[in-house]
Amino acid sequence: MRYRPAHVCAQCGEALYLPEFSEWLDSGSARHLWQCDACGYTFETTVQFAAA
Ligand SMILES: [Zn+2]
Repeated sequence: MRYRPAHVCAQCGEALYLPEFSEWLDSGSARHLWQCDACGYTFETTVQFAAA
């Protein structure tokens, strides 16, 4: 299985595949911390999952 880039670094355009750190906020959302390997830029995303 191949991973598609989940995100692209906003600073240099490097593709980021896996978050540096993930935290489940509750049953429906998670927070991911991303760090670019190329330039060191970090950012967070929050993912909402559709309720079943
Ligand atoms: Zn970067």
